[in-house]
Amino acid sequence: MAQNIPELYGSLVFNDKIMRTKLPKDMYKALKKTIENGTHLELDVANSVAVAMKEWAIENGATHYTHWFQPMTNFTAEKHDSFISPTSDGQVIMEFSGKELVKGEPDASSFPSGGLRATFEARGYTAWDPTSPAFIKDRTLYIPTAFCSYSGEALDKKTPLLRSMDALNVEALKVLRILGNKDVKHITTTVGPEQEYFLVDKELYNKRKDLIFCGRTLIGAPAPKGQEMEDHYFGTLKPRVSAYMHDLDEELWKLGIPAKTKHNEVAPAQHELAPVFDTTNVAVDHNQLTMEVMKKVADKHGMVCLLHEKPFEGINGSGKHNNWSMSTDTGVNLLDPGKTPAENTQFLVFLVAVIKAVDDYADLLRISVASAGNDHRLGANEAPPAIVSIFLGDELTEVLKSIESDKFFVGHGAVQMDIGAKVLPHFVKDNTDRNRTSPFAFTGNKFEFRMLGSSSSVANPNIILNTAVAEVLSQFAEKLKDVPAEEMDTAVHNLLKETIIAHKRVIFNGNGYTDEWVDEAEKRGLYNLKSTPEALKEFVSAKNEELLTGHKIFTKGELHSRYEIKLENYVKTLHIESCTMAEIIQKDLLPAISTYMEQIARTASLKKSVVPDISVSSEAKLLTKLTALSEAMAEGLDVLKADTAKTEAMEDMQAKAESYQSVVLADMETLRASADEAEALMPDSVLPYPTYGKLLFSI
Ligand code: ADP
Ligand code: MG
Repeated sequence: MAQNIPELYGSLVFNDKIMRTKLPKDMYKALKKTIENGTHLELDVANSVAVAMKEWAIENGATHYTHWFQPMTNFTAEKHDSFISPTSDGQVIMEFSGKELVKGEPDASSFPSGGLRATFEARGYTAWDPTSPAFIKDRTLYIPTAFCSYSGEALDKKTPLLRSMDALNVEALKVLRILGNKDVKHITTTVGPEQEYFLVDKELYNKRKDLIFCGRTLIGAPAPKGQEMEDHYFGTLKPRVSAYMHDLDEELWKLGIPAKTKHNEVAPAQHELAPVFDTTNVAVDHNQLTMEVMKKVADKHGMVCLLHEKPFEGINGSGKHNNWSMSTDTGVNLLDPGKTPAENTQFLVFLVAVIKAVDDYADLLRISVASAGNDHRLGANEAPPAIVSIFLGDELTEVLKSIESDKFFVGHGAVQMDIGAKVLPHFVKDNTDRNRTSPFAFTGNKFEFRMLGSSSSVANPNIILNTAVAEVLSQFAEKLKDVPAEEMDTAVHNLLKETIIAHKRVIFNGNGYTDEWVDEAEKRGLYNLKSTPEALKEFVSAKNEELLTGHKIFTKGELHSRYEIKLENYVKTLHIESCTMAEIIQKDLLPAISTYMEQIARTASLKKSVVPDISVSSEAKLLTKLTALSEAMAEGLDVLKADTAKTEAMEDMQAKAESYQSVVLADMETLRASADEAEALMPDSVLPYPTYGKLLFSI
């Protein structure tokens, strides 16, 4: 299989190279202007692009096109239309107009809208996002689009994401201008999401109702071996996994997704894929596609790719690391320390802005990653705690301390001090410090937000991050805008100093997994929003509403609708889990235990009939244990069902979500304990589902 990778790469993408060759020069220029500066796209340009796109798509085997969008679920949506247009003589021609490219009209009424549906029209429309390239998948031309209601309310994740990128661009430009930078015209945020996942055998998967309905196991005794030997992380890839990863890379490359790094993760059967970073909205689209392709390719290889945050209890769950930075159109990474004092000043201003943003909006960042699945991960021993704090590393922490105390920074080793720039220290980036327990870590020239769940779109956390940083930058600009040039150095220094003093509480370089940190964080007044219902309440607080409506990311209506959708999603997830668990216990596990007990009883009585005074105490012991466990399960089942029914009947969504969290989930855990104990006493051959051992170690 000698493939020419550069040729393969992006072969299914309507990228810049194709556009340049396919479009008339003036049309190409006009489109580029729209893509780069966000200017309005004229209809003649759209028409020209549509023709070129259609021709290219048909050449590459496409028969249909679709407006591809991201409703307020974690999935993408699409409705396919063919290019055919019948002619009067009974033939067809292949048609695609600029109007069809720019705007689509799917029925919005069946997507979650969280109350927006009641007040606004059900009809929605999709609008082309020319900044994310179109591509071909399954013989269909995919056009990335935003999804809005007819009255303009955002019904998707892309619209607020693009709004947040705009907000950051505007505010960051203001700050750069004040700092004397006149060249930069545009600032984008960049994201590289590292994606974790599990692979399990498809045949085994199909025997697990919990995996099928919930994406995670609801019961399951621990396997004799878990991840304690630490032999999986970065371990040799098994042939089946390696074949999968090769296939996956190729499929992603064809779609122009720069899949770069792949390796085994900590847990058995767990792996990771990381792409090279990209502009945020493209990275978000690509991550959605990556998750989809991961599942599809796994199916081809007789496996199932699990993206749930916690598929198995007792071993690590899966997350996503959102590597994030800001980048200028002149190619400067604003979170790169740089070499000159001026670059360092710029870096420190943006660094400190992020620190303040994370401290001011820690609750929103936590909320942006809240889901039923991620609740099993955050705060568990392998994942960052639910407390949002920042890791800076020793070097940078020292730098900030020196600013705070008006001292010159004296660095270690490679670090130098530059006296020219007042007290702003000059240092080189230190890449060696690594802290895997921090939820928000500075890693040399970017921040890595590590609380994201593996299954969720990365849009939400980036919407919050962009907006929170935009807000702080706008405050900075406000403070500095009237400062005369000769006083700017001092003013910047003072601004940095006061910001550091006010927000250093969010910086924590220690081990985030310890109980001491939880106590310490409480003393520092940091949020510790442990569960989704607890976190979501804060979503619509006055402070957060002000931020998000102030920067026009959401209208008040949109914000409240999102709060409702998130609550509803949590409630539905827990309801499905409760029902699935009841079904497995009632229909599969309890009957299997009965059958097994019958076998044991028969064995005992047969033994007795052959050798009358033989001891059957081992059978008797087992029967006693299994009987007790069955009783406990039958009782636990009744409690679970009753509590679920009571919770389901609740009117108030917030109270309902809280009840699922505090009551139903606890019932499920109690029930699980008996089920797992019983499972451990049963032979694999009579168990109605494959064990953890099989699921985790059979590939
Ligand atoms: P690790 O954090 O595992 O050591 P890397 O530092 O190489 O790995 O990068 C992890 C991810 O961060 C990759 O997806 C990479 O493309 C991305 N990344 C690197 N630089 C930036 C940046 N400026 N903005 C956003 N993401 C970035
Ligand atoms: Mg990383």
